[in-house]
Amino acid sequence: MAAGRCTRCGSAEIGTDGLCSLCGFPAKVANSVMTRAYIVTGSLALSVLVYAALAYFLVQSGAFSGPSVRLPQPVSYVLLGLGVLATLGGIVTARRGHLAETPQRVLAKLFRAGALCEVPAVLGFILALVTHDLRWLVMLTAFALIGFLSIAMEMPAYAQRVTEYLEAHPDYRRPKG
Ligand SMILES: [Zn+2]
Repeated sequence: MAAGRCTRCGSAEIGTDGLCSLCGFPAKVANSVMTRAYIVTGSLALSVLVYAALAYFLVQSGAFSGPSVRLPQPVSYVLLGLGVLATLGGIVTARRGHLAETPQRVLAKLFRAGALCEVPAVLGFILALVTHDLRWLVMLTAFALIGFLSIAMEMPAYAQRVTEYLEAHPDYRRPKG
């Protein structure tokens, strides 16, 4: 993959050593870290919509022939509450995650935030199929999307943190995996 541009000075001249020819910033590593951040977070956010569309289609078309279950009201609210709590946990994790030490830890926090915001989407999918009631799907999908929107708003802070770390540690190599 092309090394792209230097996130520090904007130069497109990245040497074969992965360093920016103009300012010496380890642009290749920085770009690889942030590309991974965008791809994983973007895939998770996209999967929220896929879950919602799939559940909507299965319920509306009647293709999902399982019997509709009427959940007791308290059970429904507990599940809704779990979805809301997971989303809030994801938002808090996203707001703090960029303070982590190394780019690897910063990524780990970001992905944990994404996983938490994914919880309401999965709950909405399951509840929609169990109850055939699409209100669950709408509410829980909305929470998941609010969570991912909040993660997206933190992304510049993540990019900045990675840039700052790599400025201080130009010999950093991202661990494999
Ligand atoms: Zn540069």
